[in-house]
Amino acid sequence: MAGVRATNAGRMPTVTMIGGGQLARMTHQAAVALGQRLRVLAASADEPAAQVTPDVVFGSHESLDDLRAAASGAAALTFDHEHVPVEHLETLVAEGITVSPPPTALIYAQDKLRMRRRLSELGLPVPDFAELTDEASLIEFGERHGWQIVLKSIRGGYDGRGVWLVDGRDEALRVLADSAGTPLLAEQRVDMRRELSAMVARSPFGQGATWPVVETVQRHGQCAVVIAPAPDLADDLARHAEALALQVATELGVVGVMAVELFETVSGDVLVNELAMRPHNSGHWSMDGAVTSQFEQHLRAVLDYPLGDTAARAPVTVMANILGAQTEPAMSMDERLHHLCARMPDAKVHLYGKGARPDRKIGHINIVGGQDGSLDDPRYVAAVRERAERAAHWMSHAEWTDGWNEHG
Ligand code: ADP
Repeated sequence: MAGVRATNAGRMPTVTMIGGGQLARMTHQAAVALGQRLRVLAASADEPAAQVTPDVVFGSHESLDDLRAAASGAAALTFDHEHVPVEHLETLVAEGITVSPPPTALIYAQDKLRMRRRLSELGLPVPDFAELTDEASLIEFGERHGWQIVLKSIRGGYDGRGVWLVDGRDEALRVLADSAGTPLLAEQRVDMRRELSAMVARSPFGQGATWPVVETVQRHGQCAVVIAPAPDLADDLARHAEALALQVATELGVVGVMAVELFETVSGDVLVNELAMRPHNSGHWSMDGAVTSQFEQHLRAVLDYPLGDTAARAPVTVMANILGAQTEPAMSMDERLHHLCARMPDAKVHLYGKGARPDRKIGHINIVGGQDGSLDDPRYVAAVRERAERAAHWMSHAEWTDGWNEHG
């Protein structure tokens, strides 16, 4: 490994990414094109990024020594997930390592309560919230909102884990009692039209860029489909959401890409739900549907290059996640891919090299809509979406949702 690093020394930069998941794997693809090197800190050789980059440090994101070893000689240290203890990152910063986003920003992606407090202080729109210190604080908040509330773990939740859409007082009290000391917050249940995501990038120089705001479709608390740009979104609300996301990036001192997950309310406002300071599922469409992908942009941003053009390449691009099926189909993934290639030559497939477990994100499909369509035409958007979902369902289940028989 040392020899491999030495051959690159003094030429193009190495970026270290903490975590060896699919985001690191796809960032590696972008690094290859830019002639850079992505080193990953991975727990094991079978992780998605560890399979594809030659520069892997094996270890734990919770070990300061492992983080140091991974950061050694790299131009910047960045993340595939947000679970690295900030105190370790502060130590690395003090030792002269460039950590992007810096720990002073990353804390707001780790801790939902601190994030909500900070954004409220800045006057930015968030759902009403309260820290739950005891039963009385829950009852007070619940009654104030007619028990239309959501409970969340302050730290560590993802893909809907750590979020309870409770059905009234009894269930809320039960969740609190069962939380066994895990710090929780309560949040007003938002009467929403849909969920949106505003993806932005910010460089240390202070340059900012936004992609078009997208619609994210969730199933079972997990992102299933992304429609880019979000159809039927008023221009002024889209501009407002983009400006809001850039403002969050600037105020918090984010470096790299960030997804600002938003609720579009039935009354036509947007509220900030969550921040992800790394490439994000809602930005996967950009790999095929935008001039610059979120992965390339993340590298440009953490290395303080000028940012790339974020324009969409088509009136609409739809991303659908390939999720592990409840029962793994008898047909191999290779054969499913073969059939998909035969039936949908334009489908862009991204597989993460992960074993299928139920509902696990194992890949995604992008369908870039034809240039002749319009985002304002619901039939065109629906047709692109149907193809993306059909392809993703096929890859998960070896079943065509339209009943097509591949051997027919
Ligand atoms: P995670 O960290 O698991 O992604 P989120 O905070 O994004 O958790 O919540 C997961 C999902 O739960 C959201 O995508 C949304 O569908 C729903 N949800 C979360 N907060 C609220 C809320 N305040 N009101 C209504 N639905 C919510």
